[in-house]
Amino acid sequence: MAVETSAYSEQNEIQRDITEMVRQFADEQIIPNAEKYDHEDSFPEPIVEQMKELGLFGVTIPEEYGGMGLDLTTYAMIVEELSRGWISISGVVNTHFIGSYLLMKFGTDEQKDYFLPKMATGEIRAAFSLSEPEVGSDVQGIKATAKKGEDGSWELNGQKMWVTNGLGSGVVFVLMKTDTKADPPYRGMTCFITEKEPWAEQNSGDFKGLTVPPKIKKMGYKGVESTELVYDGYRCPPERVLGGEEAGVGQGFVQMMDALEVGRVNVAARGVGIAQRALELALRYSQERKTFGKPIAQHQAIQFKLADMATKVEAARLLTRKAARMKDAGERSDLEAGMAKLLASETGKECVEECFRIHGGYGYSKEYEIERLYRDAPLLLIGEGTSEIQRMVIGKKLLQRHKI
Ligand SMILES: Cc1cc2nc3c(=O)[nH]c(=O)nc-3n(C[C@H](O)[C@H](O)[C@H](O)COP(=O)(O)OP(=O)(O)OC[C@H]3O[C@@H](n4cnc5c(N)ncnc54)[C@H](O)[C@@H]3O)c2cc1C
Repeated sequence: MAVETSAYSEQNEIQRDITEMVRQFADEQIIPNAEKYDHEDSFPEPIVEQMKELGLFGVTIPEEYGGMGLDLTTYAMIVEELSRGWISISGVVNTHFIGSYLLMKFGTDEQKDYFLPKMATGEIRAAFSLSEPEVGSDVQGIKATAKKGEDGSWELNGQKMWVTNGLGSGVVFVLMKTDTKADPPYRGMTCFITEKEPWAEQNSGDFKGLTVPPKIKKMGYKGVESTELVYDGYRCPPERVLGGEEAGVGQGFVQMMDALEVGRVNVAARGVGIAQRALELALRYSQERKTFGKPIAQHQAIQFKLADMATKVEAARLLTRKAARMKDAGERSDLEAGMAKLLASETGKECVEECFRIHGGYGYSKEYEIERLYRDAPLLLIGEGTSEIQRMVIGKKLLQRHKI
């Protein structure tokens, strides 16, 4: 007996429309301009302004605060399209998305009312700061501190490192040690919502005590700035402890790790986007370039590369969407988010390398887009937990779920 089936579709109507819109935006506005901003290492202001108009800073923020109120799965689809254009563009929204997630999940009503409407429009952008000069993977080892003063405010001191959007952001969600003796250390950590003046190297007035040193010079991932942040006597009012003092002090590590779970889906989507672009470039170039009397795409060795790339892109995309869908359904997705981040970031790097090989000598020329992708892709192996750390997370979760 035949079973009735409906047409296969990975996306619902809203997702199809919005993905199409962002894809067109990437084709018309991001890809043709990425080379210029990458070369200058300058902030792609006109592109970011258009993203504000498209509402891309408020994709997951609820409608009551002026956002689109869409889910993580749809957000991941959007990020894939932006990254297919240029991963630096997704970097401009990534930390902002994590900041809005932290507010939506843990913020007080006052914090949500104050920040979310301005964040939904992109009027202020958010940064997210855990890392320090001596600490990345081992987050419990941070040294920056916050101490409660007699006037009730908290005094923040310490140096943060690798803060994406560190200069242009108007608010930084920063992890500080509030109890240096806590055992285990994670219980003594708190997330502070630190406001700052966008694009100011030296903050003054209410935000004095926060300095942004010159941006870090990088191999790729240009255009979006990565900076250190120096907190030196910065005063943070008690109502800017994430979730409020009573609920939030000592909860920062748990809150930030929760946010990293969605952050990992987001990085996975970026891996899929860059891998997809590398595949497209390889498909085109291999049909144009001829050797030994035929297009190189007709050599089996090249076709096998294309086949492997396409297969891996598809697998990484499916795993990324699965992790996002599980989170949207309210299920635990730490294992799947770790797997998606691992597979998709490695796929991004592998596909970019294969595309580079297919381009022969031209892949080494700055005239071809693949040269930029080759410098951009490795970041995804590091940010939001390296591949080694993902394997640790996956291994630990696997053993927890299958304990005998
Ligand atoms: C461009 C860029 C942007 C970034 N943006 C941000 C941001 O916005 N906010 C933020 O907080 N951070 C940010 N980071 C920091 C990033 O999260 C860290 O670089 C990353 O977590 C790795 O930390 P680390 O560089 O200190 O490496 P380390 O932790 O010193 O690790 C070094 C090496 O040792 C391996 N390793 C470490 N521990 C183990 C272990 N137990 N077992 C096996 N191997 C291990 C690692 O996998 C890696 O290969 C950014 C980094 C970059 C490069």
